[in-house]
This record gives sequence, C-alpha cells and structure tokens, in this order.
Amino acid sequence: MLMFFLGPIPSSPPFSCSPLSKQEGATKEDIEQLSKFKFRRIANNEKLAGDVQGPFGGIMTECGTDSPIEHVLSDEDAECCICLCAYDDGVELRELPCGHHFHCTCVDKWLFINATCPLCKYNILKSSSHGQEEA
Ligand SMILES: [Zn+2]
Ligand SMILES: [Zn+2]
Repeated sequence: MLMFFLGPIPSSPPFSCSPLSKQEGATKEDIEQLSKFKFRRIANNEKLAGDVQGPFGGIMTECGTDSPIEHVLSDEDAECCICLCAYDDGVELRELPCGHHFHCTCVDKWLFINATCPLCKYNILKSSSHGQEEA
C-alpha cells in the first residue's frame, strides 16, 4: 500500500494532538475526505423530481464536485441527530459512508473524538482504507 500526499505539508494546528492518544478519533484529513453537502430548505408546495412523498424537509447538495449528488430529505430526516436540531437553510452537512448525515460542525467535533457514526457505529477510518464499497 503506497500513499503519496502531493502538495505542501499542512502546518500543524495550534492545538497539538497528543502522540499518546489512542487511535479512536479521526484526523482532520480523514474528516475532510467525507462528502460535504449544503442543505437547502424547500417549501412544501415546491415540486420535486425526487420520490420523497409528504412533507419535504429540503435538499442536500454535495459540495466541491462537478456532478453533485442530491438527496431529497423528508421533514423527519432533515435534522441532526447529534444536536437534535432541524437543518436550517444553507447549513453545511456531512454525510458519512454509511449514509447518515449530520451538521458539519456537529459531526466534525464528534469524529475528532470518536471515528464512528453516532447512529450506527460505522467506522469511517476502516472504510477509507478499504476504498469505495458499493452497497
Ligand atoms: Zn447538529
Ligand atoms: Zn451511520
């Protein structure tokens, strides 16, 4: 297994991680590899091509890609299970490889401490070393 990192080495953050800390949390680099989405709230009368029925919560659109993935969220799904708040219009979301999504700010903090999905315990570090696995 070879890993090459192109580009400049990122400067160390002001807070330094203890080298003695156990490999439980994810690093900033690990977290940044996860898909980032932008949430847009939509009105219930707005017509959608998606197949979500009933009250719509909004659409999450992938950031930083030429062909962004879009997920239509029902009203129930359009909330963060970490802080239990509904997603606001324009908020940034992070989707984990298991398909669960949370506020970017909430899940980033969580993953620094514990690199598993708060909902299903999916380990994001295991997934990245294995490459992409289709469900
Ligand atoms: Zn949250
Ligand atoms: Zn999950």
